[in-house]
Amino acid sequence: MTNLEHLDSSKPEIWFSKYKERSNKACPYCARPLFDPDIPSNEEHLIGRNFVPTGSFDRDGRFNFQFRACMECNGVKAERERHVSSVTLYSGLPLYDDRIRAIAINKASKDFHPDKKGKVVKDAHDEMTLTGNMGPMSMTFGMHMPPQLNPDYVRDLAFFHIQGLGSLITTSNHKTLEGMGVIPYSMLYSFGFFPERDWGNVQLVELAHRFETLEVILLVDTAAGFFRAIIFKDAAKDEWYWILEWNKVCRVYGAVTKDGQCPHFYVNLPEHKWNQLSPTRRMRLEIPLKDGEKDIFRRHFIAA
Ligand SMILES: [Zn+2]
Repeated sequence: MTNLEHLDSSKPEIWFSKYKERSNKACPYCARPLFDPDIPSNEEHLIGRNFVPTGSFDRDGRFNFQFRACMECNGVKAERERHVSSVTLYSGLPLYDDRIRAIAINKASKDFHPDKKGKVVKDAHDEMTLTGNMGPMSMTFGMHMPPQLNPDYVRDLAFFHIQGLGSLITTSNHKTLEGMGVIPYSMLYSFGFFPERDWGNVQLVELAHRFETLEVILLVDTAAGFFRAIIFKDAAKDEWYWILEWNKVCRVYGAVTKDGQCPHFYVNLPEHKWNQLSPTRRMRLEIPLKDGEKDIFRRHFIAA
């Protein structure tokens, strides 16, 4: 099942053909047979070409995965992808160069936020008012929150990405139904997602230590670094742990287990650190990776 050599970062992996009989025989997302005339299907790019900034695949890292998917899954994924792309790229503005900033602003000006009726992403800020007491004085202060990702969309998209990558590494022959590996939705577990300014939090640092004991079965670093993924295998329990990194600003952590339940590496983690804002309000302290700190992605990609 270790197929690292299989992933050539210089070109896409293509299972799609305009002829159904030459394409993959099942939808890697829902496992339905695609030769069934009642199930319309079309071409799917695992990493949407517009999920990352336009032109990223022409730069460093051309790997993508193109296959046939049922139109129903393809449509849902496209919607999730559009939202996650516009919010992550908008939140990454301080990190990008002018060309990519222009792409990000353009997307955030057009894409409506699913949680903010009638508002495009760039206008979908949250305002939060906090009132607290300091001695005899009552204080009120407002906080400006940047546009947020919809957590359901994040989970759905992460599961689609892991199902695609999982299918790629477990399939023996995509042209037969029996040869196709599909990761059922019921086996997917989502631990959470974290913005770039929080990649050094105590739980992620601890997870990096725990994952060091596992075998890496998949590494993806493509689209000029705007899409990255690692899958680790816990051979003793036959479970996978995975991390996705999107547009350099969002990491999603999860697992593939027999029943989709939380696997043991994600339990008994150290408590997050909190900032007490008022007697009844606290906010989790976000901790960025320090310069030179061991980073789970950087370490593996440099080693690879
Ligand atoms: Zn499907």
